[in-house]
Amino acid sequence: MKYYLNLILICVCAQLFSQEQTSQLSATIIGSGSPKYNTERSGPSVLISYQDTKILVDMGNGTQANLDKIDVNFKSIDGLLFTHHHLDHNEEFVPIFIKSLLGGNTFVIAGPEPTTAFVESTLTIYEKDINYRLAKSKRTLDDVKSKFTIKELNGSEAFTIGEIKVSSVNVNHTIETVAYRFEAGGKSIVVSGDLTYSESLPVLAKNVDYLIIDSGGAVAMGSKVRTNSTRTNGSKKERAHVNLSESSLMAKEANAKHLILTHFTATTIDEEATTAELRKNYAGDISYAHDLMTIPYDENITSKLEATVSTKSLNMSTNSSKSAPSFTKMLSRMDANNDGKLSKDEAKGKLKTNFDKRDKNKDGYITTDEFKGNH
Ligand SMILES: [Zn+2]
Repeated sequence: MKYYLNLILICVCAQLFSQEQTSQLSATIIGSGSPKYNTERSGPSVLISYQDTKILVDMGNGTQANLDKIDVNFKSIDGLLFTHHHLDHNEEFVPIFIKSLLGGNTFVIAGPEPTTAFVESTLTIYEKDINYRLAKSKRTLDDVKSKFTIKELNGSEAFTIGEIKVSSVNVNHTIETVAYRFEAGGKSIVVSGDLTYSESLPVLAKNVDYLIIDSGGAVAMGSKVRTNSTRTNGSKKERAHVNLSESSLMAKEANAKHLILTHFTATTIDEEATTAELRKNYAGDISYAHDLMTIPYDENITSKLEATVSTKSLNMSTNSSKSAPSFTKMLSRMDANNDGKLSKDEAKGKLKTNFDKRDKNKDGYITTDEFKGNH
């Protein structure tokens, strides 16, 4: 009985979360990782939401699982956008595309070359499978083909998806790559995709509220700052990603209000060392993406989501041998100096965002008692 009550509570909370986050233009980091498989960071993907409109930018490994965690139905996605066609950015497109087709929603697919060829070859390969599944509702592939449009982008297109205005520019990477700007309700968000320094990006991101950018050069916990010279010395290999001096320079040139780094290779980032490098050029707000982080940060939504996760972990600890992340686990992951409590510098993700609220006695540390006392 308790199990079902908890399940209902989780559903209600997820519903609240998914409804409220669309009241203003927002971005949810669906995956903050890289090609390297990482259970804590799914492959690159960002969900842009405003009112009833939802746009998915890139679909890396784990996108479907993380969309499911925040109760986003494939039928409700209005745009499937690619920044580029490296495998880590498009590997879950095929299942998401086919589920969208079967769901019968109207949607836009956009991205640089070879977006059209990717969609058409998918339809060719899966034609019999799609027709078999559509036959159950007396539909055929031809019936649903009119439900989506493909835009192959060349670098200066602007279009509208639902309530959201979308602009794109080409950026420098190893293959055709675009960056996107999303605008709605007086707010703006730019997603850079993978890139090296690109003059087009600060133009696209001029005065943007949130610039979500390739984290190239971010310092992994326990490793040294990689300077520009060490990065370029000794290798003639074509560079694929920015370094911190380039990403912070573009953010400064754009006059971006808030810089969010994503696409991390490492699980734990030395935020202090990384921020120190970024601060040489950029004075605005800096955040480090983690999976399912929502921008802008909304205290109400986040506390509801935390309540959901907390209920889930309580449920799991009483009903199953598997346990969800506890404070002990957080400690083992984040407590860099092993003093049994977490300072703001050590805290990661939502714990860091909510640090001041959790640190009840305001001594600069979160202890086990303070963590428990908040629930
Ligand atoms: Zn790439």
